[in-house]
Amino acid sequence: MWIDPLSKRLLKNAGLIPATQGRGPVVLMYHSITPGKGRPVPKWSVSERNFMAQLDLLKSKSWTTICVSDLLRSDSLPPRTVAITFDDGFADNFEHAFCHLRDRGMTATWFVVSRDVGGVSGWTDADVPVRSMLSAGQLHEMAMAGMEIGAHTRTHARLPELSRAEIEEEVIGSKKELEDALNLSIKSFAYPYGLFNEESVEAVREAGFQIACTTRTGWFGSDPDILRVRRVAVFSHDSLSAFARKLAFATSDVSWQTIARYTAGRIKSRFFEK
Ligand SMILES: [Zn+2]
Repeated sequence: MWIDPLSKRLLKNAGLIPATQGRGPVVLMYHSITPGKGRPVPKWSVSERNFMAQLDLLKSKSWTTICVSDLLRSDSLPPRTVAITFDDGFADNFEHAFCHLRDRGMTATWFVVSRDVGGVSGWTDADVPVRSMLSAGQLHEMAMAGMEIGAHTRTHARLPELSRAEIEEEVIGSKKELEDALNLSIKSFAYPYGLFNEESVEAVREAGFQIACTTRTGWFGSDPDILRVRRVAVFSHDSLSAFARKLAFATSDVSWQTIARYTAGRIKSRFFEK
């Protein structure tokens, strides 16, 4: 797949600033991966062809893939590091994502809705059909291959809409259900819909999670709270050039207008506001 020269140049300089300067690894967020090359209708799904092209680009440019809990030692990570994450735990991820990662010696983290493991997605979103979910056997095989399994609540709950007791049931319950089903220690968490408030962050801390991801965009380290890690969404319509710019700018909006505005702001602050 083709990349325009400017995006290629931006990618060449991406991932080189040390995490200590607030520009740590980019954490990418995926959901469903659909077989074949057709563009999926939901923007949150990525085609298998695009996903493989994105992995091959990372590999060809010598990027290192890590799991989310590896970010806890971000000071010792090499330049050009990226954390790949999948939310929800859709069954299509096994054949169309996990296998491609494993074949390339790459790793990723899956945030799984614990109640629905081995079943179907039991929550309803307007434009998302009911989907089959990864089984405990598949998750175990993925973990044995070096992938990380994290939690995403028990039922894909909107945490800020719940009482404190309900939040705890969702957060602590998801950790326990996954640990019991997989016989693994579950260290990482992602807030469904990216929704969180002080109470839900506190519940995540008290449950014993070491790191948690939001859907706010930015580099790892741009929010100092390890329980509010920022991520960059990869969409169904992203070209390989757009994907390269996401790695360079750590934002989900990489239209040229946005990048021109960002670059102008950086130049202005560098030359005129010293
Ligand atoms: Zn989700």
